[in-house]
Amino acid sequence: MKTKLVIFDLDGTVVENNYDWAVIRQELGLTGGSILAYLDNLPDPDRWQKYAILEAHERRQTEMARLKSGVREFLEWLASYQIKTALVTNNNRENTCCLLDRFQLRFDLVLTRESGLYKPSGAPLVRAMEQLKATPDETLAIGDTNYDLLAAREAGLTRIFILKSAMTPANLDRVLVVSSFEEIKNYLERV
Ligand SMILES: [Mg+2]
Repeated sequence: MKTKLVIFDLDGTVVENNYDWAVIRQELGLTGGSILAYLDNLPDPDRWQKYAILEAHERRQTEMARLKSGVREFLEWLASYQIKTALVTNNNRENTCCLLDRFQLRFDLVLTRESGLYKPSGAPLVRAMEQLKATPDETLAIGDTNYDLLAAREAGLTRIFILKSAMTPANLDRVLVVSSFEEIKNYLERV
């Protein structure tokens, strides 16, 4: 199967960090559902006050983030085959740019939450495919959480890789769970 595009998640996928979403949700006074959808529907000043709580966590996690092993080599390998790359993250532009600068990484397209589109909706992935001219069949998604999985499915993707971590969702039907980027490369070399 021809692969034209690989869509990456950022936190927990390209970089390693340690978000405690249960604690963040508690601080925001939210039990279930999407944090961003909840915040965006709050009236001001609640909205910006609670965004400040989330952003403080995100800044801290951005400061302590480390590059995941094998990412750079995998991106270089994709580039050598002219396979396009997109970074689709629910994080904001400031943190995303900071991490890309710090680790000197480059993607053909970067979509942050300022796009107004965020996971678990498939919309940001659909936009990435439109902009980089790839169909769902030509696209592969790599993430680490259930939101990545839900978004990829909604966008019509069938090749979804989840990097094994503490956040690995329990219910993983029709998903390829891998431990490293090397495993994804091996898969792509076979197909
Ligand atoms: Mg993630």
